[in-house]
Amino acid sequence: EAKNAGVSQIRSFHPALKENFRQRIGLESALREALDRKQFFLCYQPQVSASTGRTLGMEALIRWQHPELGLVSPLHFIPLAEANGLIGHIGAWVIDTACAQLAAWRQAGHADLRMAVNLSATQLLDPYLEDTLLGAIAGHGLVPADLELEITESVLIQDPEQTVARFNALRQLGLRLSIDDFGTGYSSLSYLRVLPVQAFKLDRSFVEGLGKDETSLEICASAIRLAQNLNLDIIAEGVETQAQAEWLRALGCPIFQGYLFARPLVAEAATEHLAQERAGGPGAAGELLLPG
Ligand code: C2E
Ligand code: MG
Ligand code: MG
Ligand code: MG
Repeated sequence: EAKNAGVSQIRSFHPALKENFRQRIGLESALREALDRKQFFLCYQPQVSASTGRTLGMEALIRWQHPELGLVSPLHFIPLAEANGLIGHIGAWVIDTACAQLAAWRQAGHADLRMAVNLSATQLLDPYLEDTLLGAIAGHGLVPADLELEITESVLIQDPEQTVARFNALRQLGLRLSIDDFGTGYSSLSYLRVLPVQAFKLDRSFVEGLGKDETSLEICASAIRLAQNLNLDIIAEGVETQAQAEWLRALGCPIFQGYLFARPLVAEAATEHLAQERAGGPGAAGELLLPG
């Protein structure tokens, strides 16, 4: 009796919690099998020159196609993979797949194209990261400078000393490093003196405010000026409108990324996009694309 009452009490007090927990367990075991079942794929989003409109690089963005859940956002499963230790394997797959794709594009004649790959906090601290990176780079006939690692500013808060040490080690290998979501990490600007980065990615939230509020405009202007003064590249994220692109161009931003230019494209569509661009066409961004 007492036992039953206890159980029903738990049921009535924590139904949402239990449901969440069950969902999480379900998602976690599905995630464990996702690599073997080949449910991951990469999309590629162009990073374009503000002056010529040409694609300078592609950012690899992971997608998980689950048979029942459909397309699961990396915003949902990357944190889960970080928590349960799967991120190392998934990250290694991303790095290898992105390198293979860049090598294929190089072979197709896109000689100067670069590839950007996102790294999460746990991956950055993984002692096997260097081996994984160098193995994939050499394995596909690339050099470290072909690859740019995007790391969000917020990793610094978790373990600043380790982060700086890891950045230095990666930079020494010749990899390019960029600060993702620049301006959103609540960290002190003094890290710029110790992190050997080549670029910032101006967070989409600031770009979105252009033409809407004065503060966003000032933040964009300051970030772009800061990058210029430090001799770094700056890439505006989430450029969606012509008006935003014009603001950014006026402020001197050299590289754009966003739906205005191209959505993240599946490999075939990205290949087509590059081919059309080289042929002088308008690009293939309207075909075979996936949302966000
Ligand atoms: P992020 O690296 O800051 O990537 C930018 C996100 O903004 C991407 O979302 C992209 O699809 C989206 N985006 C691009 N242009 C626009 C635009 O014009 N408007 C809007 N509204 N959104 C735009 P996505 O692909 O869902 O990725 C979300 C985040 O997940 C990424 O943010 C990154 O932090 C993480 N992520 C994605 N792929 C990987 C991966 O392979 N490894 C790791 N560790 N993290 C990844
Ligand atoms: Mg990124
Ligand atoms: Mg970003
Ligand atoms: Mg972002």
